[in-house]
Amino acid sequence: MLISAGDNLGGYKILEYKAVVFGTASSAEGSNYRQTALKKACENADLLGANALINMHIEICQIADKTQEATVYGDAVIVKIDSDYGLATGEIHEHKVNLEAYLPKARKSEIARVQEANGYKFVACPRCGTKYKTDVDANGDVHIKGFHDVDDDEPGLQIFCLRCGTKFTVPGTK
Ligand SMILES: [Zn+2]
Repeated sequence: MLISAGDNLGGYKILEYKAVVFGTASSAEGSNYRQTALKKACENADLLGANALINMHIEICQIADKTQEATVYGDAVIVKIDSDYGLATGEIHEHKVNLEAYLPKARKSEIARVQEANGYKFVACPRCGTKYKTDVDANGDVHIKGFHDVDDDEPGLQIFCLRCGTKFTVPGTK
């Protein structure tokens, strides 16, 4: 099975698009779960009679504490050697894909501890201990007045400590 993250394969002509195929695997199945997910997607492409997977994408998501799930998807296609391209060989070579390059987004900032005082909940900066009063909205989401999320890539609410500048995560109530 030829694999490409792009929408074509150099030296090959796409004859037919079969379907979008998927493969999933979780890290509970072993540390090579990304390769397993790719293998499953390739098997599904193979079942359709395809000999290549193009537009290959992989998404990693956190499904539980310490458990990630990889989903590989792409277009199953039939390709043949493009004779105009001048390839001497008639063989189709297996392409190796480095899936280790696709790592799940890690939580980078420390999670602040919640403290309660006088009926209010506070979070304390993990580095300097400066306290911030939290508000909980009708949806149960935690906010800190005057602060907004500074990191869209990390799950949850991240703020910068006003005193020491440390970025930290404000834990939710749920
Ligand atoms: Zn601080």
